[in-house]
Amino acid sequence: MDDKIVIDVARLDPEGETLSGEADIVKLDEEFVKSKGPAKYSLHARMFGDELLVKGRLEQAWTMVCSRCARDFESVTVVEDYVFSAEIGKKEQFFDLTNDARECIILDLPNFPLCDGECPGIAGKSESRPDERWNALDAMKLD
Ligand SMILES: [Zn+2]
Repeated sequence: MDDKIVIDVARLDPEGETLSGEADIVKLDEEFVKSKGPAKYSLHARMFGDELLVKGRLEQAWTMVCSRCARDFESVTVVEDYVFSAEIGKKEQFFDLTNDARECIILDLPNFPLCDGECPGIAGKSESRPDERWNALDAMKLD
């Protein structure tokens, strides 16, 4: 399983190319959210002069902890309109999209995920508070 999304700039079709597949780029393993399997991607990459433009779709499955009832549940993040562009040096043969795509997926995570929009929270608690473990997301570093 690839753990990177790398664009072969030197061989990119001048008309653009569609790149799709699966790559284990997220690898998030926090107490409250874990990536489940590889990210799926379907991207279109094209050079415009010195500029690489990538557009497409990213998808990542998760196991998360509900911020109301603290139960584990499964969820999927879909980024339908991923866009990336960068100027590419003439000597650059490959461009590694991994970090940007990973960041985009992680930033799309909800602040307070719910197992269900109607989740009643933990029975017996009059007030439901977000699970404090989710605070860790704010402190998490994206590389
Ligand atoms: Zn819940």
